Amino acid sequence: MTKICYLDNNATTRVAPEVRDVMLPFLGELYGNPSSMHAFGGEIARYVDRAREEVARFINAEPDEVIFTSCATESDNTAIRGAAEAAGPGLRVVTTAVEHPAVLQPCRRLKALGYEEIELPVDAGGLLDLDRLREAVTPGSLVSVMWANNETGVLFPMEEIADICRERGATLHTDAVQAAGKTPVDVKKVPVDMLSMSGHKFHAPKGIGFLYVRRGTKLKPFMLGGHQEHSRRAGTENVPYIIGLAKACEIARIGMAEEGRKLAALRDRLEAGILATCRNVRVNGDHAHRLPNTLNVSFEYIEGEAIAYRLSDLGICISTGSACASGSLDPSHVIRAMGVPFTAVHGSVRFSLSRYNTADDIDYVLAKLPGVVGALRELSPFGPDKNVTTFS
Ligand code: PLP
Repeated sequence: MTKICYLDNNATTRVAPEVRDVMLPFLGELYGNPSSMHAFGGEIARYVDRAREEVARFINAEPDEVIFTSCATESDNTAIRGAAEAAGPGLRVVTTAVEHPAVLQPCRRLKALGYEEIELPVDAGGLLDLDRLREAVTPGSLVSVMWANNETGVLFPMEEIADICRERGATLHTDAVQAAGKTPVDVKKVPVDMLSMSGHKFHAPKGIGFLYVRRGTKLKPFMLGGHQEHSRRAGTENVPYIIGLAKACEIARIGMAEEGRKLAALRDRLEAGILATCRNVRVNGDHAHRLPNTLNVSFEYIEGEAIAYRLSDLGICISTGSACASGSLDPSHVIRAMGVPFTAVHGSVRFSLSRYNTADDIDYVLAKLPGVVGALRELSPFGPDKNVTTFS
């Protein structure tokens, strides 16, 4: 098999070997149910308690504010639907046009059920107009604004957003899935009320996430059944994955600052290389407010899917939008919301790096990409030097 050059880490990441190692005993001899009354179950419950403390420490929360879930989609749905159910009809839900479907879809469902829903636009850099947010947020509103965008890496100013929500007495949820392990998240410094994260985005396995819920936040449980997670999320705890998630949090907490510098240097090298070797290219997303690992680029007049397929044949893994949206040829809702011109919107691709990427990966992409882009441009009927310059 060709060498895999994996630059799709905002879709999912490789499980860290240290994470896998701490999980293994819980797939073997440590199989007890933490809710059982016998000593064996109690021993497992203590491991879960310690894992909860580590996860809480990662975001500077209290352990009882952490609810383990199966993924961020569940965390987002729990936060939005649970807060709406607690507030009742008449609630105003404020979100943004660039959220992940795991937030947009539950918000739109609430709209269909008669709740008031507002989706705030973004500017060309993917940033929010905070005055629009101030106008939209009324006392008692539920606000859901992502910490970092999965497609562009754009970071929203969460501290200011939290202040606006606090001033108005609104409840603030943030989808911090892409922030995890890439930028510091501290719920005491940035007083959000609820926050979602997912293990598989930062080197824990798929199938584990958590929802932070600040003490006192009004929330109805989404999963009903047993009394696990203090009756806030029914279902037997996924102990091996909870243990793995805690290890991933610990590694990220200790290594994030240094890793961020390394990722930013590799990402910037990739960006500079692309701009130097390919014509008619634009970088999407505000430069000053981006995650260190993400680069979203539009290659004008060609299709992002065609680029991704050709790179895939060379062992290079990238995305053309969020993984959940790919499979459809509709251009990304995030790139469209930024008002990227039509000639470029279809040609957007995302490179997303992790701690396992090296300078060799970047050099390999830079060696292959200009040829791929050039060949597709030859084939394309569109372009500044072709008869057709715009899509109609
Ligand atoms: N929110 C964001 C910003 C994401 O990027 C993703 C996954 O791509 C999700 C939510 C959903 O996460 P999960 O796969 O854990 O359900």
